[in-house]
Amino acid sequence: MQIARNKVVTIHYTLRDEQGAVIDSSSGRGPLAYLHGKGNIVPGLERALDGRGAGDKLDVTVAPEQGYGLRDERLVEIVPRSRFPAGTELAPGMQLRTSGARGARIVSVVKVERDFVTLDGNHPLAGRTLRFSVEVADVRRATHEEVSHGHVHGPGGHHH
Ligand code: ZN
Repeated sequence: MQIARNKVVTIHYTLRDEQGAVIDSSSGRGPLAYLHGKGNIVPGLERALDGRGAGDKLDVTVAPEQGYGLRDERLVEIVPRSRFPAGTELAPGMQLRTSGARGARIVSVVKVERDFVTLDGNHPLAGRTLRFSVEVADVRRATHEEVSHGHVHGPGGHHH
């Protein structure tokens, strides 16, 4: 069965950066199952998998525009440390959940100074070229329920 819109695709994958360092991998965690054609994975990888089938192996290089987007320097902000509750532990590399005008989002702590904290609201992989090594393990038709929810149920997918 070919990968197409509304198929459930199960993949083993390893994601590396431009230097070849592993960023993420399904090995040891079990394969990822996703609903194809719904934007559940980055666009560049979804496009590369289109028309492929079980057993196919592919290496895909995804430019930032087809991955997690370009960096937006306007999402970097310096806020007074006093905005955080006393005793809040803050260190570079930490990720925090904040709520604001644009709703809840995840920001990374970039720098911590005595009175100020630098936060970055970009996705940690924004602006990065992504190199995926993928093996397609399985392709099946999605159920009506999966299509209406926009995601996969069962192993490798959502559990309600
Ligand atoms: Zn669901």
